[in-house]
Amino acid sequence: MTGYRAVICDLDGTVYRSGVPFPGAVDALARVRAAGVRVLFVSNNPLRDAASYAERLSKLGIPTEPTDILTSGAVMARWLRAHTPGARVLLLGEDSLRTELTSAGANIVDRGEEAEVVVASFDRTFRYATWLEAFRAIRAGARFVATNPDPTCPVEGGEVPDCGGIIAALEATTGHSVEAVAGKPSSLMLAAALEALGCSEREVVIVGDRVGTDIELGRRGGVATALVLTGVTSRDMVADLDHPPTYVIESIAELPALVAGQLT
Ligand SMILES: [Mg+2]
Repeated sequence: MTGYRAVICDLDGTVYRSGVPFPGAVDALARVRAAGVRVLFVSNNPLRDAASYAERLSKLGIPTEPTDILTSGAVMARWLRAHTPGARVLLLGEDSLRTELTSAGANIVDRGEEAEVVVASFDRTFRYATWLEAFRAIRAGARFVATNPDPTCPVEGGEVPDCGGIIAALEATTGHSVEAVAGKPSSLMLAAALEALGCSEREVVIVGDRVGTDIELGRRGGVATALVLTGVTSRDMVADLDHPPTYVIESIAELPALVAGQLT
């Protein structure tokens, strides 16, 4: 291994926790970039857009442009542009995503009977009335897609229900399965990331703390993966995996050595 041209990097549990960078994270990312390796930060959380993440990371000392960020919301917008351009969309989601999808040409509607596509997302305003409209739309033949598969989202002090629960509510009641999910570990996310980086699968390493999303993203796409132990996965859990990551590193502080090809 002679090194990697780019890194696809998870955020929560990998770069920071509760908004505080892990020791060595800021320096490690600076060194990786100084070596000419591009870093693309990816997040399944559709509540913030790229500009918001870029501002947040820059404030932490990691200078970041919106083009260095890929969210599940942006991948969803990309899917809509490619597959259902200008479609009438019923969104179970929040205002930031509504703006993002509208910017991509989607025509957001409120009534199920008008909808050609239902987009399920992380929606803290979820309620029966919108669930009913989405149910009616899908039963009437609307396409059914979602931003991210996560059942829960980690927050300060615990977890809250996420998009996975809303997908489950719609699948259980309509009898239809979701057609495409934009976020990790979907191939949609990987394809968008590789396109943004201008890299092939073999030139990139994915760094993250979750086996089911970050590491699975690499496994499905034939991309090398590095599991960090600063998040939800411990070293004991790695021993039981059928498909272990390419690398296991204590933290993102070891990333410069990894991308330089000095770790095996
Ligand atoms: Mg994570």
